[in-house]
Amino acid sequence: LPFFIFLSKYLAQKMKVIAHTSMELNANMNAHMNETLNIGGVLLTKLFGRQTQEIDRFDDRASKVRDIGIDRAMFSTTFMLAVGLLSAFGTAITYGVGGYLVIQNTFTVGTIVAFIAYLDQLYGAFQSLANAPVDFSTSLVSFERVFEILDLGIEVEEKKSPIVLNDPKGHLEFRNVNFSYTSANFFGLSEVKRPGQMGSVLAVLSGDDQASPDENEGTIEQNSQARTETLTDISFIAEPGKLVALVGPSGAGKTTTTYLVPRLYDPTEGQVLMDGVNLRELSLESLADQIGMVTQENYLFHDTIRTNITYGRPQATQSEIENAAKVANIHAFISSLPKGYDTIVGERGYRLSGGEKQRIALARVILKDPRILVLDEATSSLDSESEALIQQALKIIMIGRTSLVIAHRLSTILAADEILVMDKGTIVERGTHTQLLKSAGLYKHLFETQFRNSEAIHQGGKVS
Ligand code: ATP
Repeated sequence: LPFFIFLSKYLAQKMKVIAHTSMELNANMNAHMNETLNIGGVLLTKLFGRQTQEIDRFDDRASKVRDIGIDRAMFSTTFMLAVGLLSAFGTAITYGVGGYLVIQNTFTVGTIVAFIAYLDQLYGAFQSLANAPVDFSTSLVSFERVFEILDLGIEVEEKKSPIVLNDPKGHLEFRNVNFSYTSANFFGLSEVKRPGQMGSVLAVLSGDDQASPDENEGTIEQNSQARTETLTDISFIAEPGKLVALVGPSGAGKTTTTYLVPRLYDPTEGQVLMDGVNLRELSLESLADQIGMVTQENYLFHDTIRTNITYGRPQATQSEIENAAKVANIHAFISSLPKGYDTIVGERGYRLSGGEKQRIALARVILKDPRILVLDEATSSLDSESEALIQQALKIIMIGRTSLVIAHRLSTILAADEILVMDKGTIVERGTHTQLLKSAGLYKHLFETQFRNSEAIHQGGKVS
């Protein structure tokens, strides 16, 4: 018995470490495959001629997974062998000593045979018991990884009784908004440095609850010190149906500002309000229903054009889909395809051109019919025909909707009811195009270096 106990305790510890390493190595290999075997990754690898290096990198990770798998199998087999050997020894010794005692006439043969039969049953039970700590410790590692996710704090949380906007007007207001990125709070998930509830229970179960609290305190401290303010004191109002343009140098915080509207993040301080209601009070579903976001990099699913367009409204009829596609200037193109709306677009829409992808993304937003449109105009130069088609579609989409646009086109800033000029996370100037040009500040500089030239390029001529 002491041998059984010692063996299973030793192996349980070993197997826990091996299981942990094995899961990490597997995760590494899977992450590598996801990164390099998608369309973007394959393209990058080919363009830079890095196939050999990528194969080597994969080989390296895969061989680590193989080696740890072999280690794991070897340990389990050795354990089973050792347990079997212990049982066999025990039985042999019992036969030896029992045989001797029978010769001495102390025991009868029947007693020994009965004893061995009971011993077999006892060993069977002990073998199963000896496996328990090993199984338990490897399962704990799986739980640990699941709890790591369950313990992540939720930053963008819905209120218990949220407000649902029934007849939204699309009045958008930023009121003294400050925002800073924490280490990992994208889409409402934040990294938890202290063990959460689940993690603590597990730590006690696995006997790892001695982690120094000072260590954790230190991590949080360093974390908050690492925060820098990305947005400072942002205040503006976008009246229903009006167009507010955001302009500014790279890294000024324009994209971050637009992310606060659909609550991809919440402000650190201040409020974002829709129709006078703080977004934190709104139900996430009713907020999502009111916002249509078109980014520069539009994501399409590896599915049919129809499914991609109807993503926001799966119950839409064929004529509604076609109407949306017509407004987005993409219906004629889709109709010309052999399978029309049932054409598969490929992973991330790689079978379509940049302009076609953008117009399908616009059709998706048109079909959703949101009150507020958040748009990041493409900086990449599309051909002038595609560009004109997109601009035409955008003009129609913006009618009657509140639009917050990261502007890269002169036509957009000229049409804007208010232009917010951002720099280093704050609004440094605001007004209409004419007002801002008069003030001869950052806007004038941007206009002269960026907008005037870009429009000239897109129109194939000069802008006076
Ligand atoms: P661009 O015109 O180049 O797109 P931008 O004005 O839209 O720039 P943002 O993308 O809002 O700028 O970035 C503002 C700042 O926030 C930058 O300094 C950027 O490095 C930082 N930032 C952006 N996203 C994150 C993130 N997820 N985590 C941490 N910092 C971020």
